[in-house]
Amino acid sequence: MDDKCKVIAVANQKGGVGKTTTALNLGVALGKLGKRVLLVDADPQGSLTRSCRIIDPDGLDITLSELMAYEMTGEDKDFVLKNDAIRRFENVYLIPSNISLSGTETALFNCMSRESVLKRTIEPLRQSFDVILIDCMPSLGMMTINSLVAADSVIIPCEPSYLSVKGLDLLLHSISRIKRQINPGLEIDGVLLTMVDSRTNNSRDISDALRDAMGININVFNIEIPRSVRATECPNVGESIFTHDPKGKVADAYANLAKEVLSLERQTQTRSRPYGVR
Ligand code: ADP
Ligand code: MG
Repeated sequence: MDDKCKVIAVANQKGGVGKTTTALNLGVALGKLGKRVLLVDADPQGSLTRSCRIIDPDGLDITLSELMAYEMTGEDKDFVLKNDAIRRFENVYLIPSNISLSGTETALFNCMSRESVLKRTIEPLRQSFDVILIDCMPSLGMMTINSLVAADSVIIPCEPSYLSVKGLDLLLHSISRIKRQINPGLEIDGVLLTMVDSRTNNSRDISDALRDAMGININVFNIEIPRSVRATECPNVGESIFTHDPKGKVADAYANLAKEVLSLERQTQTRSRPYGVR
């Protein structure tokens, strides 16, 4: 295994909180910093796939679902991985998904080591990428568990609303269970506030309350992603925010988030050095 690669799951069981937008634009931002980035669409709705300008995901022959099926049946998938599965989008790569991934979720229940199929599927790709970002589906089902088992860390996008913040408890609980039982190395990179409207007091209050509630145990990113109509347009035109509105505040925020994510990585490396070693 190549330790240089970091696998980050972008997860929240609530839909519409900015997971897909974050996976894509954080990926492109990391690409701009010279990282080799792979995006993995782990949602049968295929929103990330569509956002990466694949107009008809359901027409694709080789997607994440097929790769995971090869892993479950033990077929040699290396040639498929190299040739057909991985697509290019702007400065990053993508493993697409479509509706067939909902069948995979069912198939997982009857398979051996069902929580680690995705981990084993992407393992051979660690040597080719610096960062692999997994865009999770909005549930805490088998696919999301697979994503959290495959990941080294997790980023949790969250809208600044009372109910969204309340809903984090459930996710944090699942993460700590996965950490305890299957993936002890899993770290929470942080909670990311998305669609923040700085003009409203409510947004500000929730942001402050979230920082208080998470305390020192769970990082809340300093960077917050502002709400902008330009970001909403991106999936329709099949462009990242860096292509669609390069000088806008959302592009700026994701560029800064990428720097914050990389600086976390350096801190972890420093912290994990054995005692007494410089
Ligand atoms: P999820 O993957 O969690 O379901 P998405 O990333 O698909 O969430 O975002 C949900 C909707 O909100 C999409 O229509 C998306 O374009 C929009 N959106 C995401 N981020 C922003 C933002 N910063 N400003 C405005 N709209 C946004
Ligand atoms: Mg999504």
